[in-house]
Amino acid sequence: MSKGTDKKYGGKKCIDCGSPLELFELDLAKGRRVMQCTRCGLYHFYKKDFFGKWKLVKAGKVSDLWGNSKK
Ligand SMILES: [Zn+2]
Repeated sequence: MSKGTDKKYGGKKCIDCGSPLELFELDLAKGRRVMQCTRCGLYHFYKKDFFGKWKLVKAGKVSDLWGNSKK
């Protein structure tokens, strides 16, 4: 009862260093959300599941996740 206002973005923490995450990208049409660690910069990919909950799909550096072959 004391903390029910953090359903949107709050409460998410970096799986690596445990620091708070901040919203990096939100795509409601695709049910996709990307959050970035405020400390180490790790990206966390979330997808909306059947019940409308955000589930962590994977986490990693941006170059890993987007398969950036430019470098
Ligand atoms: Zn981190």
